[in-house]
Amino acid sequence: MPTSDTARDAGAAFGEPAVLRPSLLLHSCCGPCSTAVCERLAPGFRITVYFCNSNIDDEAEYKRRLEAEQKFVRQYNASGKMIEPLGLVCAPYAPKAFLRLARGLEGCAEGGARCRACIADRLEKTAAFAALNGYGAFSTTLSVSRHKNYEMIRGIGKALALRYRLAFEGADFKKGGGEQRSIELSKAYGLYRQNYCGCRFSKAEAEARAGGGERNVAE
Ligand code: SF4
Repeated sequence: MPTSDTARDAGAAFGEPAVLRPSLLLHSCCGPCSTAVCERLAPGFRITVYFCNSNIDDEAEYKRRLEAEQKFVRQYNASGKMIEPLGLVCAPYAPKAFLRLARGLEGCAEGGARCRACIADRLEKTAAFAALNGYGAFSTTLSVSRHKNYEMIRGIGKALALRYRLAFEGADFKKGGGEQRSIELSKAYGLYRQNYCGCRFSKAEAEARAGGGERNVAE
């Protein structure tokens, strides 16, 4: 816990929140993944969810995922059980820019060079927004998924943290049952949970897996 007893006491004396938590901008890939990560980070941070996902290929799908994120934040904040309310900021949606970024990497398997570029792009936008708006730290929900390479995410996050002079809160959120917890919570909140990562290439991969009898899983 980053807050000292002195800060806690000073806050209480002036009628302010009893604990002064540092601010954190949380890049979120979708509502379901953000449920478990917010639960884990909430005791230590004032969290603003940053929905920054131009990788999502189809506009209808993008809106569906954004609505799930909004639904989660709304319900979380209305629950009366939260430590502090969540903020929510939506980055501009620029799917053509994502396709330019992925040019030449279309055939890469999920987890490879295309994903590195995609994740670096989303995290860089998150770090830039955090630095510009006075956040002390940033993080991402991406490591909740067993399909995401934690070491890759951590390496990108740490490099951006140095460049933007921020802290990167880069835990492997799938550990300790994080992915299962995100599934449980997204059911409890009644959230739409997609069955592919986001881009048109991952959608085609998921369809191929389903055609081969494999079960699709969300990002
Ligand atoms: S599979 Fe997911 S992480 Fe990889 S490029 Fe597509 S949207 Fe980005």
